[in-house]
Amino acid sequence: MLNIPLWRQIQRNNFADWKQLLSFLDLDIDEAQCILPHSPFPLNLPKRLAEKIEKRNWNDPILRQFLPTVEEQVTSPLFLLDPVADRAFRPNPKLLYKYHGRALLISTSACAMHCRYCFRQHFDYETKDKLFIEELTTIANESSISEVLLSGGDPLSLSDAQLQYLLNELEKIPHLKRIRFHTRFPMGIPERIDLSFMQLLSSCKKQVIFIIHCNHPKEFDDEIFLCLKKVNQLGIPILTQSVLLRGVNDDVQTLKSLFEILIDHGIMPYYLHQLDRVQGAAHFEVSEEEGKLLMNQLNALLPGYAIPKYVRETAHQPSKTPI
Ligand code: SF4
Repeated sequence: MLNIPLWRQIQRNNFADWKQLLSFLDLDIDEAQCILPHSPFPLNLPKRLAEKIEKRNWNDPILRQFLPTVEEQVTSPLFLLDPVADRAFRPNPKLLYKYHGRALLISTSACAMHCRYCFRQHFDYETKDKLFIEELTTIANESSISEVLLSGGDPLSLSDAQLQYLLNELEKIPHLKRIRFHTRFPMGIPERIDLSFMQLLSSCKKQVIFIIHCNHPKEFDDEIFLCLKKVNQLGIPILTQSVLLRGVNDDVQTLKSLFEILIDHGIMPYYLHQLDRVQGAAHFEVSEEEGKLLMNQLNALLPGYAIPKYVRETAHQPSKTPI
């Protein structure tokens, strides 16, 4: 497969068929009444993550994050299509401008994986203009914007050529100081951080910051840490965001292990998010009372720098709200 980067070839082998995934995990198809077979947000799971799922365990914390289940059909007036009011802060089709000084570019609709709790799973992505003309113009005309967040979807889904174009255009904007990548890609396909991508990062003239999205210590392995270390050695700070998820990481030992493994590899836990109340994800919700109790327990077990801020995003608030 000439000219197709290795990471793309790997991505094409993601699990997209739940029957194949169940067979791979030795899960009994006769017990599969819990599966939602025709979700508009379909199964999409990299092999690397699937290999970390315990065989014959329906309750594995990685499986739970990616397997479409009938629980998603439970509706509640509190769980919305657009829980954080993205649409109200969308000056251009691919730009969100919510917080002072920071604008978020919806750089792509694609991801390395489909997380069932994703708050943008119902987002009406605009996929036509690949040059981001309107969005770049807004950023250039708004001198208070000092930081652009590359989000999506997952910005690492873009080709290096597309990313290079975006970085080049953003570098031309003098008042812009920082470019922040929000990505979950390395957790499933660390091969994305290849030589070509590293060259692209090292030649960027703005300060780059990486925010990695991770929820469970089992998601990591040595190769992932090695790739992140290479990024960090370019002078790029790496922080994390996690979501507090029922049946995934809602116990103190799991959270302690997650934050410890991060600091042991020079990565700073940044945010622990309360679940955004998106339609289809109610079964993942942990109450704020439980979350506060977990944070109190963590405070007694870890040094302060290893404990992320526990926050919620409230629609129309000018920043995340500490809980
Ligand atoms: S990688 Fe991020 S944007 Fe993509 S489905 Fe998961 S949570 Fe949503």
